[in-house]
Amino acid sequence: MNGGTEVIVGAFDIGGTNIKYGVLNGAGDILFKAKIATNAKEGGKAVIGQVKEHAKYLLEHYELNGIAISTAGQINKQEGSVIHATESLPGYTGLNIKEKLENTFGLPVVVDNDVNCAALGEYWKGAARGQNHFLCMTLGTGIGGAIVMDGSVYNGAAYSAGEFGHMTLYPGGDACLCGDNGCYEQYASSRALEQRVLNYFQESIPLPELFNQARNGNQGAEFVLDHWMDDVALGMKSLVHIFNPPLIVIGGGISEQGDYLLEKLQKKVATRIMPSFQRSLQIKLAENGNDANLQGAVYQLLDRKK
Ligand SMILES: [Zn+2]
Repeated sequence: MNGGTEVIVGAFDIGGTNIKYGVLNGAGDILFKAKIATNAKEGGKAVIGQVKEHAKYLLEHYELNGIAISTAGQINKQEGSVIHATESLPGYTGLNIKEKLENTFGLPVVVDNDVNCAALGEYWKGAARGQNHFLCMTLGTGIGGAIVMDGSVYNGAAYSAGEFGHMTLYPGGDACLCGDNGCYEQYASSRALEQRVLNYFQESIPLPELFNQARNGNQGAEFVLDHWMDDVALGMKSLVHIFNPPLIVIGGGISEQGDYLLEKLQKKVATRIMPSFQRSLQIKLAENGNDANLQGAVYQLLDRKK
């Protein structure tokens, strides 16, 4: 399928909490956007039922040429099936989303992991425009990663490459959902930051407020953020030395925190890496937020690989 404004695609971004969906044209413009709560408790089939229901609604209003899905979980992109999903989406593992939607609607369907979609969305329309090689790292409940080479996501042997969150940061450290201990995401995800806030202040503070407090010179907020960013930078140090990437894009809700986050992170990473790596490295925050997931899914349906 070619791009262009005449192509119209229904796009869904399925997460454990929300399903965001919309209609995009083949130029990546968002014509319509909405979100619903994910009916995760009812299981994976019910979640796909929700997608079908809203795709039907979109089809009543738009002449869709295809359906593009970005979703949580490890995805076999070739089959469009879920290899593995955590308990945030019970009963999701093993579902063939592509087959179910193609059978229902008779339209071409593409399905990929949400971090891969975010990376390609940023490549197409955001922070990684014009950059054919880069890493995308999303800080959220966990830490996701995508490795983009020559404008395509590197999938690995089982469509599972780029699990940056399970690099070991502290051997023997905190237990991780993966079954091991001391993983990067136990220290440097935004959930880990929330936990640090709780430990330090004995109460939870929304992260945007924490950043505001730090910007206003609150020493406690600065202290917590500083230690968290040290750990974020520590993981990035390994990634930089392995990949020598010209660009790392930081995504997830935390990327809305702008220069305060970016400038400190750039400094902390710079002090840890060898000079030759530093000269060639750019770190940027994602520009398109959740829209990138929808855009990246559509990008893959259009098969725009150069
Ligand atoms: Zn782990």
